[in-house]
Amino acid sequence: MAESAETDWVSRFADEVITEAERRAPGKPIVCASGLSPSGPIHLGNLREVMTPHLVADEIRRRGVECVHLLSWDDYDRFRRVPAGVDPSWAEHIGKPLTSVPAPPGSSHANWAEHFKAPMIRALEELGVEYRGISQTDQYTRGAYREQILLAVRERARIDAVLSRYRSKQVEEYFPYKPYCDLCERDLTTVTAYDDATTELAYTCECGFGETVRLAEHDHGKLVWKVDWPMRWAYEGVVFEPSGVDHHSPGSAWIVGGQIVGEVFGGRQPIGPMYAFVGITGMAKMSSSKGDVPTPADALEIMEAPVLRWLYARRKPAQSFKIAFDQEIQRLYDEWDALGRKIAEGQGQPAELAAYRRAVGTAAGPLPATPHPVPYRTLASIADVTTGDAEQTLRILHDLDAIESLDEARPRLDRAQRWIDGHVPADERTRVREEPDEELLDSLGHAERESLRLLSDGLDDWSLESLTTLVYGVPKLQAGLPADAKATPELKAAQRAFFALLYRLLVGRDTGPRLPTLLLSVGADRVRKLVGA
Ligand SMILES: [Zn+2]
Repeated sequence: MAESAETDWVSRFADEVITEAERRAPGKPIVCASGLSPSGPIHLGNLREVMTPHLVADEIRRRGVECVHLLSWDDYDRFRRVPAGVDPSWAEHIGKPLTSVPAPPGSSHANWAEHFKAPMIRALEELGVEYRGISQTDQYTRGAYREQILLAVRERARIDAVLSRYRSKQVEEYFPYKPYCDLCERDLTTVTAYDDATTELAYTCECGFGETVRLAEHDHGKLVWKVDWPMRWAYEGVVFEPSGVDHHSPGSAWIVGGQIVGEVFGGRQPIGPMYAFVGITGMAKMSSSKGDVPTPADALEIMEAPVLRWLYARRKPAQSFKIAFDQEIQRLYDEWDALGRKIAEGQGQPAELAAYRRAVGTAAGPLPATPHPVPYRTLASIADVTTGDAEQTLRILHDLDAIESLDEARPRLDRAQRWIDGHVPADERTRVREEPDEELLDSLGHAERESLRLLSDGLDDWSLESLTTLVYGVPKLQAGLPADAKATPELKAAQRAFFALLYRLLVGRDTGPRLPTLLLSVGADRVRKLVGA
């Protein structure tokens, strides 16, 4: 138990967290935490907020130590702005808790927050992220934080003193609790009086409403963010919680919270690495018309859960990286498959092995995998050329790799299909010619015709490997060279010219998917027809 592997950043944090938890709360389950705001579509970049503690919590569980990963849904936060694409009339809800705002038109969900939580919950399930979700609306409205709220209000001068270390101008009368208006539900309220002895709190709202409530019984408001966060560290006993770089400037929530948690709530700040920005490439082009942001669900449309997990596991939180929705995803998959082969052969550095292990499964077991993982770029080419026709796809995969059922190639096949359909622009798609380009065929000289005849004769041996040998071999044969001849500049030029001719005849362009894959996808009969041999 609690044995250190010390092989990667996750192991090192797990060591640190276990040691710290034993010091702070011996014998209790270790608490790691994340927070997400369902104020709109949850951006793929925010997945790091969950994946970082997930990986650490998972490593702790793998060592047999009890650990809970709390995911706070900040759904009691105010609705700040109407995102693009939503009816501007939603502006009337600005200032209400996210759970009191109606869901966007057409949604089946009860409110705004639930609508945007739902796809994230599905994505986290697919990613194998085990967590305990906490609705801050539930917590506040059932009075879970009543003692903490009364304490914060009692200690408001002390909190104000902490905050004033970071601000230049003095605030008139600092109050750390913001009531939501009982009439209009918005937080356009001002606390006008508070009596520490009775906890009577008077507020007025911009809507004209005003009342006096007893804070000791009031469950319709919340602590301001810079007090709410450290309050929860203490309340939940959080030992590990990372945060984005934007929380770490002087006077920001993490810095201020680190002082408030001890000085007011008698708790301790978690171990909290700062994580770097995760960028996205190739998404804007395809989806900007929808006004959408890329979400984890969008990434899982085009890549399998283990590959997405791997992106987070292999890089330290402080390293930024990009998630590719463009051609780069094919290279990513090549790299992933190469790592898998290396590990299957018993090779690989300890850190590589650790990242791979964290990607393919969790303490609860392995994640679903594609039984017969054909290279992603091959599947993408097949999906491109066949436009997703299942029968053709099966024929090609059978010829290629003796695949008997498409399910053997799933879910990777579906991911590649969706990538082609959703993220490859129309002008980059491959259109195999229906009829031969007679004009081009008529213009060919003797040597070119001969090369096409040699190709056609060699098509009987129908595997990716033999087709590769064939397309590289035809120019060798024509030059009178043996099949294993070394490449010379002249030979390379002849091969390039031959490939360009084939692309023009098959797809009417100078380039296309890798030729052997293209030939396989097109099929021998159609290839023979299009090359006129
Ligand atoms: Zn009001």
